[in-house]
Amino acid sequence: MSRRSADAPTDQLGRPMGSLRLSVTDRCNMRCRYCMPEEEYRWLPRASILTFEELARLTAVFAALGAGKVRLTGGEPLLRHDLPELVRKLAAVDGVRDLALTTNGILLGARAAELRAAGLGRVTVSLDTLRPERMAEFARSDRHADVLSGVAAAASAGFDSVKLNSVVIRGYNDDEILPLLAFARAQGVELRYIEYMDVGGATRWSPDQVVSQRDILAVIEAVHGPAEPLPARAAAPAERFRLADGTVFGVIASTTAPFCRDCDRSRLTADGTWYLCLYATDGINLRDVMRGGATDVELTALIRDRWGRRTDRGAEQRLAVPERGVLYQVETLRADPRREMHTRGG
Ligand code: SAM
Ligand code: SF4
Ligand code: SF4
Repeated sequence: MSRRSADAPTDQLGRPMGSLRLSVTDRCNMRCRYCMPEEEYRWLPRASILTFEELARLTAVFAALGAGKVRLTGGEPLLRHDLPELVRKLAAVDGVRDLALTTNGILLGARAAELRAAGLGRVTVSLDTLRPERMAEFARSDRHADVLSGVAAAASAGFDSVKLNSVVIRGYNDDEILPLLAFARAQGVELRYIEYMDVGGATRWSPDQVVSQRDILAVIEAVHGPAEPLPARAAAPAERFRLADGTVFGVIASTTAPFCRDCDRSRLTADGTWYLCLYATDGINLRDVMRGGATDVELTALIRDRWGRRTDRGAEQRLAVPERGVLYQVETLRADPRREMHTRGG
């Protein structure tokens, strides 16, 4: 149950706080070209990484302000030691009404049942290709079989929902739009196509590689007939569609049709820096405030105040940029690694 109080904050555009993405580590065991294309990265110092107790405490403060939908992400969250223990702690937090995980799936096979038992409700696995050699080239990982085992384990672990995320990139996997849909259907899970975004670490981004929602739908409808739009769910980033055979899928059109006006999300990096938007340049250091001895009342007041002043609508502003190119050069990302998608949490 949500414990959102009657005076839960809304931001300057009238948007309530609804979901919190917790990046539990900035490390990853893949190197997807659209997220971590570089050879080297600057990692967050270990001593700065929030403990499970600190994460649970902040989550409780956020949940009481309305952010009761919590998603664990990263980096690769399953690289965080003993993630099921964190899940147990967060599932017990008053006000957390939805607990989800986004993972690349490599380590999911061995953990799915344990995570479910610990209280994890929903899982999203990122899967961009059904071809192992493509993944090896594009994401520098030869563990495609492990990802597929992870999907199968999740699908049979009894989660409330299991989804697949596929970033579609022209010239890489745009010829797999239909095979990925067929695969998801065979696994009994819902696929969501994601437009390639020019976020933080995407230093190889260019507009011509973006396969738009319109293009994706055209490929699907040419074979399966009309895709019927399903009613929108409040603040959900994906638009969902149903095909004549009953298959339901989603498209997250963050690049060509952003949904900032309904955005109720904020993000916490593994070192406790709070971002009000995926595109925000700067965050708010909650770790130092917390470690400096702030009470929950003080933390609540700080978070409430900052959310109340929020005006962010990063993706919509990017849409208005003429001759759009990459968001950040590598040097800027090195200077502040929290601008990376894998640090901020996708
Ligand atoms: N490592 C986990 C994973 O890949 O699922 C969780 C973190 S990852 C940053 C979260 C999501 O962000 C993934 O589904 C990934 O595909 C997506 N993502 C990363 N970079 C992206 C980009 N440039 N455009 C669109 N989606 C991106
Ligand atoms: Fe790929 Fe996720 Fe790792 Fe980024 S954080 S490189 S999207 S697996
Ligand atoms: Fe929300 Fe920012 Fe993404 Fe827009 S760009 S949907 S405001 S996180």
